[in-house]
Amino acid sequence: NAKNDKRNCVKIYDKSDPTQTDIDENLVELVRTSLAQERLSLVYQPIRHTLSGQIAGVEALMRFIAPTGKNVSPAVFIPIAERTGTIIPMGLWAIYRACRDILSDARIPMVSVNVSPVQLRSQSFALSVAAILSETGVMPNRLAFEITEGLQIEGQRDIIACLTDLRSLGVKIWLDDFGTGFAGLSCVREVQFDAVKIDRSFLHATSSPKGQEMFRSIVALVRNTGCAIVVEGVETSDQLNVAAKLRVDYTQGYHLGRPQSVETLRELLESDAA
Ligand code: C2E
Ligand code: MG
Ligand code: MG
Ligand code: MG
Repeated sequence: NAKNDKRNCVKIYDKSDPTQTDIDENLVELVRTSLAQERLSLVYQPIRHTLSGQIAGVEALMRFIAPTGKNVSPAVFIPIAERTGTIIPMGLWAIYRACRDILSDARIPMVSVNVSPVQLRSQSFALSVAAILSETGVMPNRLAFEITEGLQIEGQRDIIACLTDLRSLGVKIWLDDFGTGFAGLSCVREVQFDAVKIDRSFLHATSSPKGQEMFRSIVALVRNTGCAIVVEGVETSDQLNVAAKLRVDYTQGYHLGRPQSVETLRELLESDAA
């Protein structure tokens, strides 16, 4: 299994390809070693249709086990990987892995993969994605990328161009963590997103009337942009009711399913179908 990944990893980062000069070979080597030792993996969290509860897709989340055996949080290792550039080969591996995993199970409608602005700014990202799609044979509309709102899109021609290239491949573009930064509003104005994920802090604040009012306003705002609405961080049935009452399209959170291995996900799909 890991051997397979290793071989395909080599294929994706073709040294002789002059368009991939921004990928540092040492970093590729580090990722390759981590993969070979199975220290890097993906878990999948269900995203459900709010009203029916059916699985609409899954979000891929990266897991990393340090050489010491400790599980390191993505909140810790993603920023480091971004600073060092390691995120570029790691991120391509994640897209590749996610494509392979959903291809192996037709009951998973789609997968969303988080991508960092560093990846979007890297040379030939869209080309690499196209290569992964054609190599795995995954239909582009089964793949979405989650872009975190924190990134300042306004005026960033390289990022907007990259997002446009990705959309023309047929993959979906989602805006993640909406409402947490100052960039969200200009993001939805400049880029056509397929869906917007409202940050969990807004749902969690709905225990107060003021928080409820705020949440309603944000849902209305996103709805007016024409994007589908995903509410993340659903931890209780009360919170699910809040989201359902506002008819948000999709919901995600510990109450609706934890991030889990692809094997456990398959069992969940079995029991969901029954
Ligand atoms: P995110 O994309 O906003 O992902 C949601 C995070 O919230 C995940 O944390 C998930 O496990 C957690 N979560 C899910 N449901 C609930 C809930 O009901 N309550 C609470 N409190 N939390 C919930 P995780 O896996 O630790 O990931 C943290 C962040 O790291 C992600 O935030 C994402 O921005 C980043 N990340 C994870 N995997 C990748 C990756 O492959 N590439 C990139 N670039 N970033 C990634
Ligand atoms: Mg996300
Ligand atoms: Mg994110
Ligand atoms: Mg999020």
